[in-house]
Amino acid sequence: MTTERAQEKRQFGHRARLALNPAQVRLIDAQAHAARTTWNLLHDLWTMTPKCQRSLTRMDAAIRQARKEIDWLSLLPAQAAQAVLKTYLKAWKNCWDQRAEEPNFKARIRSVMSVDIPQGRDLQVKRVHRRWGMVNIPKVGRVRFRWTRDLPVGKHAGKDNRITGARLVKDALGWHIAFRIQTLETMPEPHQGPEVGIDAGVNIPLALSDENHQDHGRSPRLPDGAADRDKWLNPDEKAKLLRLEQRAAHRKSFRRPKERSSNRLQNTYDQIKQLRARATRRAADWQHQTTTALARTYGTVVVEALNIPNMLKSAKGTVENPGKNVAQKSGLNRSISQEAWGRTVTMLTYKTARFGGTLAKVPAPNTSRRCSACGFITPGSRESQAVFVCKNPDCGWSGNADWNAARNILHLYRMGHALIPAAGRAVARRTHGVKPATAR
Ligand SMILES: [Zn+2]
Repeated sequence: MTTERAQEKRQFGHRARLALNPAQVRLIDAQAHAARTTWNLLHDLWTMTPKCQRSLTRMDAAIRQARKEIDWLSLLPAQAAQAVLKTYLKAWKNCWDQRAEEPNFKARIRSVMSVDIPQGRDLQVKRVHRRWGMVNIPKVGRVRFRWTRDLPVGKHAGKDNRITGARLVKDALGWHIAFRIQTLETMPEPHQGPEVGIDAGVNIPLALSDENHQDHGRSPRLPDGAADRDKWLNPDEKAKLLRLEQRAAHRKSFRRPKERSSNRLQNTYDQIKQLRARATRRAADWQHQTTTALARTYGTVVVEALNIPNMLKSAKGTVENPGKNVAQKSGLNRSISQEAWGRTVTMLTYKTARFGGTLAKVPAPNTSRRCSACGFITPGSRESQAVFVCKNPDCGWSGNADWNAARNILHLYRMGHALIPAAGRAVARRTHGVKPATAR
């Protein structure tokens, strides 16, 4: 007799590329600009209003008024404007809970263009072909998108399985739609698979304690200054990137200070962004495939608990205005690849949970210096980045340095050093007395 397993609500996103004609692109661009302006108006209003007078009603009224008075603001559907308000207040909440910086104005060039579609029923998603689906975008119309996974639509949709909303997001490769999906799934059986320690290696992208190393076949180290993601480009693409960067530098040399960049320069920047976006997508694709395979295979996955400093973000700068001495500031390439490592851990966290497994974290110090055979830290044991040879006279174990670290990680877990998992993001709570006035 089988026992009934509990059902669990699951929320996740699915991103698909939209097939738009130029007129539709212009329409959605206009909506995104209107959404950004709405945000800036709200922020202006918020900072100008005395603390005691800030309220949801007031902000809401301001949006309505602005939409009446400024023609092009009403290009944005009313519900999307409401979503901007909701996101704006959420941004303050995140700030007060110390999860994020204070919200600020959104600049035209630096901010990601996006439009929210908060109501799932507006979307009218339908599959029309093996590879294509149709979706309704408010004020734009029916639009085709690539159908790459089965969505809960039509007879598959119900109260528990449905699309609850979506967001349009533009990147260098064009407009995408990110669906918000809610499903009810049976809780998985506890995963009976083996335990494994994983280390984000210098020479092996993911070193596993049982030697089932995961490699993507791309060069692990690049000359200083080259961004880590560039290794995902093929040689001819890398050559093209170099050419484009030289061209951009050349064109930039003609630009006087405070002058707008020319269309030609902007065009070159766009091409650079497209190449970079392609590299990022390849990296993410490899991460998804690898983490899914790992979550399927192993019952317990153990990783190092690392803190990825925010300074990376500021050191790197943007395409238009790259940071200087990035490599030195961010502590060489290893810490740059840790950014990718953070994403891998995030994926492993939710994927192991889906397959009934667990992800454990152990404290990081010395995992790369300790010998995984005898357990001693003997000076000079790590011969090079790649090889670990134990200098303890009674031991003499040698092996790949990344593999050694992965073995240590698993060992720490087996000794009971796993950190207690925190649910969600860490929140430093304020006492009630000092909590700022919230919008109600
Ligand atoms: Zn040893």
